[in-house]
Amino acid sequence: MATPDDATAPAAALANTGRRSFRPGPGRIAGIYALLASAWILASDRLVARLDLSPIDTTRLATAKGWLFVAVTTAILYRLMKAMVRDITRMHAEIAREQGEKLRTANLLQAIADGSTDAIYAKDSAGRYLLCNREAVRLAGKEAGEIIGRDDRALFPAETAAAVMADDRAVLERGAVVTFEEAVATPYGIRIMLTTKGPIHDGGRRPVGLFGVSRDITERAAATNALRERNAQLAQSNADLEQFAYVASHDLREPLRMVSAYVGLLERRYGPSLDAPALEYIAFAREGAQRLDRMVLDLLDFSRAGKRAEPFAPVDLGEVVRTACANLAAAVAEAGATLDIAADLPAVMGSRGDLVRLIQNLIGNALKYHAPDRPPRIGVTCSSAAGEWRIAVSDNGIGIEPQYFTKIFAIFQRLHTRDRYDGTGIGLAICRRIVHYHGGRIWVESTPGTGSTFHFTLPKEAPAPESGGTWAARPGATR
Ligand code: ADP
Repeated sequence: MATPDDATAPAAALANTGRRSFRPGPGRIAGIYALLASAWILASDRLVARLDLSPIDTTRLATAKGWLFVAVTTAILYRLMKAMVRDITRMHAEIAREQGEKLRTANLLQAIADGSTDAIYAKDSAGRYLLCNREAVRLAGKEAGEIIGRDDRALFPAETAAAVMADDRAVLERGAVVTFEEAVATPYGIRIMLTTKGPIHDGGRRPVGLFGVSRDITERAAATNALRERNAQLAQSNADLEQFAYVASHDLREPLRMVSAYVGLLERRYGPSLDAPALEYIAFAREGAQRLDRMVLDLLDFSRAGKRAEPFAPVDLGEVVRTACANLAAAVAEAGATLDIAADLPAVMGSRGDLVRLIQNLIGNALKYHAPDRPPRIGVTCSSAAGEWRIAVSDNGIGIEPQYFTKIFAIFQRLHTRDRYDGTGIGLAICRRIVHYHGGRIWVESTPGTGSTFHFTLPKEAPAPESGGTWAARPGATR
C-alpha cells in the first residue's frame, strides 16, 4: 500500500531518470539571469573601453549590446522556462496517476470491507475514523459521512465513547492485537460483539492508527449460554442419578435383603406344611427379590461407568483387549470360541478401566449370543478415519433385527427372556456411556442369523484444554 512518503515519489522518479542532469527552477533561473547580466555588463563595458570609440559610436554600441543582451537572455530564459513547465507538467501527471492508483486501491479495499458481514473500521492515532464498512455504518445507525473524520464521541454516549477510546489508546500503546467480547448498544438493541483491534504501522515504530473488526455473536452467545445452562442441568441430573444410585444401593437393598431373608425363613420353617403351589410362589418371590437386587447393583454400576475419576491418560488398546480376553478366558474356553484380534491396535487417550470394561462387555455378548449350531468366531479390528479411530467387534452369532439397533443401547432393554439368555440389559447401556465419555459414538450393524458387528469410535486427540487461543479474551466486558 502507498504510504504518505509516496507523495514525494513522482519528483524523485523524475530526478532519477538520468535524461537531464540540469533541473531548472525559479531560483536557478534567477541566478543564471543575474550571472549572465553581470558577466555581460562587465565584459562588454571593458571591450567598449578598449575600442576607444567616439561618443556617438559608444552610444550606438551600448544600444546594440543592450539589444543583443535582451535577445540572448530572452532565448535562454525561454528555454529554461519551457523545461521547467515541462517538468512541472510531468510531475503533475505522475502525481495524478499515483492518486488515481491510491483511489482505486481505496475503492477496492472499501468494496472488500463492504462485502464482509463483520463491522470493519480504521481510525487514525487521534481516534478519528478513516474507514468504515457498510456493516459498521449500519450498526452505528448513521451515515458514513457522519462518521468519517470524527471520533467515537460522534457515535456513542459520552461514557461509552470514553471507554472505547481508552481501549483504543491501550491498543496503540501496547502495539499488539487484542480480541475480546463486548456488549455494544446499537439502534437494534444491545449486541454482543467479538472484537479484534490492532495497530496500523506505516514503517515507523509508533502506530499511526488502528483497525477494528467486530463480529456480531449475539445469537451464538445466547446459544452458548443456553448450552451452558443445559450442561448445568445435565450435571445436576447426573448428580441426582448418582444420588439415586447411592440410595438404591444402600437403602433399597436393605428392605430387599429383608424380603429375601423372611421368604427364606418362611420356606424353612413352614415349607414342610405348605403345598406345592405355595412353595412355587415362595420361589417366585425369592427369585424376584434376587433379580431386583441385581438390577439395583447394575444401576449402580451404570451410574459409575464412564465417570472421569482421574484425568485421561494414554491407553494401549492392544493391552486393553488382551486384559478383557484374559478376564473372559473361562467363557471363551467353554464356548470353544476363536478370537481374531488385530495386531495393530493403537493407543488412545482414555480411562483404561472403562475401556477394558467396554471391550469385555462386547466380547462377552459375542460369546453369550453365539449361534447354537457353530462355535463363536470373534474379531477385533481397528481402522483410521478423519480424527478418530474406528474399532469393530464382530461375531458370527444370532444377529439382531434392524428395528432393535437403537433400542438395545437403552438401559434394561433386552431382546430375549432370561430363561434363554441370562442378563439384565445394562451391558450395552454401559458401553454407550463409556464411549460417550470418551468423545466417541457407538452403533451396531447386524444380519439376523449371520452375526453382528459393534462399531465404536474414539478421538485420536485428547479434547483441547478449555482456555486457549492466542487472543486475550475479555468475557463479560460491556459497554
Ligand atoms: P444383556 O446382555 O444383559 O441382555 P446388553 O445390554 O448387553 O444386555 O444387550 C442388550 C441386548 O442386545 C441383548 O439382550 C441382546 O438381545 C442384544 N445383543 C447384544 N449383543 C449382542 C450380540 N453380539 N449378538 C446378538 N444380540 C446381541
